[in-house]
Amino acid sequence: MAIRRELFAGEVLYRQGDPTDCAWLIESGQVELVSVHGRRTTRHGVLGAGELIGELGLLDGAPRSATATARADSVLLAIEREQFMERLQAGDPILRTLVDSLLQRIRGLVASLPADAEMPSEDVPCDDPVERLGIDKIRLEAQLRDALSSGELEVRYQPIYDIAAARVAGYEALVRWDLPGSGPVSPAQFIQLAEETSLIVPVGEYVLDKVIGVLQALRDDGADPLPSIAVNLSARQLVEPGMARQIVARAERAKLPAGALKLEVTESRMLDYAPVAAVMKHCREQGLPFALDDFGTGYSNLTHLHSLDFEFIKVDQAFARHMFDSERAMAMVEAIVNMAHAIGAKVICEGVETREQLDRLRAMGVEYAQGYLIGKAAPAEEVLSGAAARTGEEAATA
Ligand code: C2E
Ligand code: CA
Ligand code: CA
Repeated sequence: MAIRRELFAGEVLYRQGDPTDCAWLIESGQVELVSVHGRRTTRHGVLGAGELIGELGLLDGAPRSATATARADSVLLAIEREQFMERLQAGDPILRTLVDSLLQRIRGLVASLPADAEMPSEDVPCDDPVERLGIDKIRLEAQLRDALSSGELEVRYQPIYDIAAARVAGYEALVRWDLPGSGPVSPAQFIQLAEETSLIVPVGEYVLDKVIGVLQALRDDGADPLPSIAVNLSARQLVEPGMARQIVARAERAKLPAGALKLEVTESRMLDYAPVAAVMKHCREQGLPFALDDFGTGYSNLTHLHSLDFEFIKVDQAFARHMFDSERAMAMVEAIVNMAHAIGAKVICEGVETREQLDRLRAMGVEYAQGYLIGKAAPAEEVLSGAAARTGEEAATA
């Protein structure tokens, strides 16, 4: 299904009676809705930019109740059924009942309209901030689906520096999205949006495919030792049925050596520890090590730490940033590093931006450093040519 449609004035988007496959968000232009019942014609009004059409049929699965015709040259974004349904199903049951009841009432009202009725056409821009936020999210989600299907997401690779060996030992894969016309969208923003629905699953698969491709290319080029690449997994992906087996199977199919592909998961976003612990154990046994990401942020539920089978702890960048602020801040970093070592985990310190931070972390026995001092996330070509590793090592030893 086309995710984006451009219509000339007079062109029909859909006809009354057509099956409802999606709703549309009007990006620009105007669309009129007209229904005909016997000799009765109802004009439902003209809708403009920022408004949704066809969303009722999406909710109850009924065929199109009216014909939608562009009244000016228009651009529309398709909103798929699951975008709404997943959120409705995850929502408060009271809200769901309310939506159902409103839906039935609207259907009833439309059916009882007199012949040749003309609904008032409101041409007022939406000024409710909550509604606007909803429309913005719907739009961004549709654009993300579009970017995913047209391969517009890019994966970049931030070097991870082995402090004792003084070399770049691996990378973290970070997804990038440059939205045409609006510039880069922060992954923090769109990953969170994707996590609200199952959209995170195809996003994760996309990233995983790219990463496996890069690892295979490095291996085929004879990279020795083969650097590792860590992929971020959201807690939602981790508990998706069959996900762990799928990741393991992909790594096996690609014939990657144990440890080449790593997984990162943010502890503070874990909903349920038991399934996460089972997945971690399974992956680790199959040669896929885990790192506990953003350690020390949100809440670190230490009571569950012992049951999770991870090999690395990534100390959140806030700790490196503040380590020289006070003795207390420094003591916190030392305590986390000691605790990680005591439970047999290696430490990756994030957000390392200065030589002083790196030297101090080395003195503490921290194994790995990641941050702008070593390098920002680089395109795949720089990883494949070895340029990302070379510049990282030069910067760290300069
Ligand atoms: P994260 O996993 O904690 O990734 C590290 C973030 O810190 C990255 O931001 C990186 O660019 C940034 N960073 C690295 N070194 C430094 C530094 O020295 N100083 C500062 N100030 N920042 C540094 P980014 O790329 O914006 O990613 C944000 C978050 O989005 C990530 O946090 C991760 O949680 C999520 N994310 C990114 N890619 C993916 C993905 O493919 N899948 C999933 N599920 N999440 C992803
Ligand atoms: Ca991470
Ligand atoms: Ca992190």
